[in-house]
Amino acid sequence: MQTISNYNFKGKKALIRVDFNVPLNENFEITDDTRMRAALPTIKKVIEGGGSPVIMSHLGRPKNGPEEKFSLKPLVNHLSELLGGATVNIAPDCIGDEVKAMANNIKPGEVLILENLRFYKEETKGDEEFAKKLSEIGDCWINDAFGTAHRAHASTAVIAKFFPNDKMFGYLIESEVESLDKVVKNPQRPLTAIMGGAKVSSKITIIENLLDKVDNLILGGGMTFTFVKANGGNVGNSICEDDYIETAKTIQKVAKEKGVNLIFATDVLAADAFSNDANTKILPAKEIPEGWQGLDAGPESVESFKEVIKKSGTILWNGPVGVFEMETFAKGSVAVGEAVVEATKNGAFSLVGGGDSVALVNQFGFADGVSYISTAGGALLEYLEGKTLPGIAAVRGE
Ligand code: AMP
Repeated sequence: MQTISNYNFKGKKALIRVDFNVPLNENFEITDDTRMRAALPTIKKVIEGGGSPVIMSHLGRPKNGPEEKFSLKPLVNHLSELLGGATVNIAPDCIGDEVKAMANNIKPGEVLILENLRFYKEETKGDEEFAKKLSEIGDCWINDAFGTAHRAHASTAVIAKFFPNDKMFGYLIESEVESLDKVVKNPQRPLTAIMGGAKVSSKITIIENLLDKVDNLILGGGMTFTFVKANGGNVGNSICEDDYIETAKTIQKVAKEKGVNLIFATDVLAADAFSNDANTKILPAKEIPEGWQGLDAGPESVESFKEVIKKSGTILWNGPVGVFEMETFAKGSVAVGEAVVEATKNGAFSLVGGGDSVALVNQFGFADGVSYISTAGGALLEYLEGKTLPGIAAVRGE
């Protein structure tokens, strides 16, 4: 397989599929440029190798063709700044003769951005003819959009067939896949997954897939209570999904059969309202009276979580173990974060992923203390669910 590190970009127009789907405010100013920064190593590599980067991305969800509010124009100057003042031009479209001519005229060190791919419905439909037209603009294709790797769109997957020998991952996807594989393919044991968040229903496929892989599974947050209820406990007003009680029972049964150590909250910080100022008390997780709800892991649970985390060789963390957005209920998640950081210092590989967990590690300053933070939402979850991602399979030729 071709890799970005050994590919010769000299004189080549490199079509780079990036995820520049950045948030813009009402003045079309970029409010978070994380995704643009993430693609810089790949763009710079092409420039340094003597090639010409042709950037393609989607932005927002345009429904009926071109719409100014979804144009990639507001990104041009910022990309130029991020590239140290490089000339960045934008094409009026993403396919066609004019665009081809612009791509042919890129001077060394310059960058061309194609207009929003989703101005064509054919993009999300994975239309082959459209993919062919895109492919005619470049000499090679780099997929560096992990955020859309779970979609079989024209620019993220279908285009691959037009570059049988000139397709590769960008650095961002390469490091995402490498890091995820350290968890799902060849982890240092013991492997511990910490699954938190609000609901079992949104994490069920991942949990099922992880049962084949992990040594320890810490289940925290709101989903605790579906398990507590499944085991005959009283959950009071805690969040609980009655439709998933049978699922919770099955998970416990399968975990036992596979020898997975399941760790739940045994005590919780309960509150008499979903509010930072509510009255609170520590209660056994299975004895929560009506009018009270468990909103964070209790001290005994936190100790048992920490003990397992600290002995782990690999840690996957997805979802907070309490309502961390409220200070009163953030202690459990902070303690888990501290334990993950400590384990990482002692040599464990730790991967944090999923929207809320990323917000949490950033908010509490754990970002530098973990091994890898994955910012891809859907793609990350599907990878953890064990699914094949079209954008990855297309590059690998699977
Ligand atoms: P998720 O998107 O599924 O990872 O869920 C994250 C959300 O779960 C966060 O906003 C937390 O506030 C919420 N959460 C965590 N623990 C609880 C709990 N015990 N009760 C209600 N919500 C919770």
